[in-house]
Amino acid sequence: MKKWIRKTGRPTLLGALAIVFCFPVAALAAGEVRHTVSFPEDREQVILVRSEFPVDGAVTDLIMPNWTPGSYKIRNFAGNVSRISAMSDEGRALSLEKVAKDRWQVDTEQAGTLLVDYEVHTPELGVQTSWVSSAFTLINGASVFLYTEYSRELPHTLNVKTDKEQGEVFTALPALPGEAGFRAKGFDELVDSPVAVANAPTYRFTHKQQEYVLLNVGENQFWDGQQAARDVRKIVVENQLFWRINPLERPFWFMNFIVEGRGGLEHDHSTVLMTGRRDMRDRDKYIKWLSLVAHEFFHVWNVRRMRPVELSESEYQVEQYTSQLWLAEGLSSYYDNLLLSRAGLVTPKEYLELLARDIHRLETTPGRLVRPVTETSFDAWIGQYQLNANSINNTVSYYTKGAVIGFVLDTYIRKVSKNRHNLDEVMRKMYRRHASQPYDRDAFKNVVTEVAGDAAVEFLEPLLNTTAEPDVDSALEWYGLKLDRKNINAADSGKTVEKNGPPASGLGVVFEEGEPGMVIKAVLAGAGAASAGLLPADEVLAVGGERLIPGGLDDLMGSFRPGEETTVLISRRGKIIELNITLGNAIPERFEIVLKSGYKNSQVKRLQRWLGQEIK
Ligand SMILES: [Zn+2]
Repeated sequence: MKKWIRKTGRPTLLGALAIVFCFPVAALAAGEVRHTVSFPEDREQVILVRSEFPVDGAVTDLIMPNWTPGSYKIRNFAGNVSRISAMSDEGRALSLEKVAKDRWQVDTEQAGTLLVDYEVHTPELGVQTSWVSSAFTLINGASVFLYTEYSRELPHTLNVKTDKEQGEVFTALPALPGEAGFRAKGFDELVDSPVAVANAPTYRFTHKQQEYVLLNVGENQFWDGQQAARDVRKIVVENQLFWRINPLERPFWFMNFIVEGRGGLEHDHSTVLMTGRRDMRDRDKYIKWLSLVAHEFFHVWNVRRMRPVELSESEYQVEQYTSQLWLAEGLSSYYDNLLLSRAGLVTPKEYLELLARDIHRLETTPGRLVRPVTETSFDAWIGQYQLNANSINNTVSYYTKGAVIGFVLDTYIRKVSKNRHNLDEVMRKMYRRHASQPYDRDAFKNVVTEVAGDAAVEFLEPLLNTTAEPDVDSALEWYGLKLDRKNINAADSGKTVEKNGPPASGLGVVFEEGEPGMVIKAVLAGAGAASAGLLPADEVLAVGGERLIPGGLDDLMGSFRPGEETTVLISRRGKIIELNITLGNAIPERFEIVLKSGYKNSQVKRLQRWLGQEIK
C-alpha cells in the first residue's frame, strides 16, 4: 500500500543513534569535530562558521577543499573565506598564517581543542556551491567547511542556527537528539550531505521499507508536488528493480530547488536538483527534470558506490584524473532516459526522441573526430566544465558519447546473444563486484567478456579508445528502426523544409542565444565559415548582401543552396568587414528515429523488451 503524506519536519530521528550519540551540547566530546553555522542578520549571502577541532600537535593546518566530488572542476572555495581567526578552548588567541591558497597554519600551543571562526561568502547559486538568501539556503560542505588531516576521519557534528523565518533545516545526515544538530561519520560524509534551510514542503514515500523524501524548495502554483513525488517514486522503483540490491542505509532525500537553476549532483543518501519555476507545465522540460532525477538516482549505485579506482578516496585539494567518466557519467546518461521509458514516464516515441537528440548532439560535434572519450574523461577538469568557443571542435562530451556507446553496446550484446544477455546484466555484475572494491581500467571489459564474450570487447574498445563512430544505424536496424538525418533538414537552426525539396544551406556556425544580434558562438571546424575566416564573437550583419536579423536566419539561408559562393558582412569588434564564403549544408536541427517500413514482428518484440513498454 502506498502512503502519501504531505508533511514538513526534520528527518526521522533514528532511534539507535539517539541513544548512542547523546553528547552534551556545550563541551566538545573527545575525538570529534563540531561545526556551528549561523547567518548574520544584517547581511545576506554570508555564512558564519565556528569550527572546533581536536588537535594533536603544536601546529595544525586548516584546509579548505578546492573542489567537490561529482563535479570535476577546481573551484578554489577558499576564495570565499574571510575574517578567519583561531583560539584555544580557554579563549586564548592563537597565531594563524595563510601558507597556501587553500591552507592556514595555526600555532596551536598545546591547546587541546582549536576553535576557528570565519565567514564564507556565497555569491554563486549552483548544485556544487552554497547559497544564502532570505528565501532559502543551500549548504554544500566542500564550499563551507575547513578540515584538518588529523581530524578528517573523526565524527563531525553540525549545528545550523536559524530563526523561524528562515525555515527548517533539511539534510540526509542523521539528527542528534534535542537541538544537538546532525552527525556525520567523518568529513567525507559531511561534504557528501548538502543542507537546505527553507520553508518548503516535503513529500515522503516508501518502497520496500525504504523511505524517500522529495523536498520542493521554491514550490509554486506551477509545480504539483504530489504528482512530482508520484513520478519520482516510479523512478525509484525502476532503479531498484534494475539494480536488484538496495544499498541505502537511511532515508534518501531528493532536494529539489525550483529556482531557475539547472543541473544535479549525486550523493550517497541525497541529491541536489535544480529546475525552472514553470518546468512542470512544459512537457519537454518536465521530461528533462525526470531524466535528471533518474540520472542522479542511478548514481546511487554507479559512481557513489561503484567507483573508478582513481575516485575511490576523495582528495579535495587536487584533481583526481580518471579516463572512466564515460562509464560513471555516460552510462548513467544512457540509462536515465531508458529507465523513464521502462517506468512508463515517457512514451516509446518520446524515448526515441531523447535518443535521437543524443545521437544528433554527438554527430554535430566535430570534436568527436578529434579525441576519444577516454581522453575527454581524463581531461574533464579542463574540458567538460570549462567549455569555450572551440570546445565543440576539439572535445566530445563523455555524457553524450558515453550514452550513445551504451546504446550500441547494449544492442550489440542483445543481438549476439539472441536477446539472452544485455548491458543491464553487465552493470549489475559490475556493481556486485565493485561496490566495495573500486574498479580499474580492465574491470568493465572483463565483465563484458564474461557476459557477452571476447568479440564484445573488440566491439567496445575502439569506441572508447579511438574516434571510431558508434554505428547507431545498424543498432537501430535490429529493432526495426532507422535514423532520419535529413527529413527535418533546416538551416543552422529552426526551419523545416519539404522532404523532397532542395537541401538548406548553412554558414557552419553556432549562434549565441539571447543576443540582440546574430553573434557567432562557435565556428565549426571544416565548415564554410572556418575557411572564410569567421571568428567567434563576430556579428553577422548580412549574407549575399541581404540583411540577416535574429529570427530571419532560416528564411534567408533557405534562399541559398549548398555550394554557392557568396559574401558575408560582419562586425568584428566594431569594424565592418566583408568576407567571401562557400556555403555548405545546413546542420539538421534534429534527427528523428522512425520505424522502418516493412519492419518485422520479431523486431517489435525486441523493441518492447528493450524499452519495457508495449509498442502500439
Ligand atoms: Zn552524473
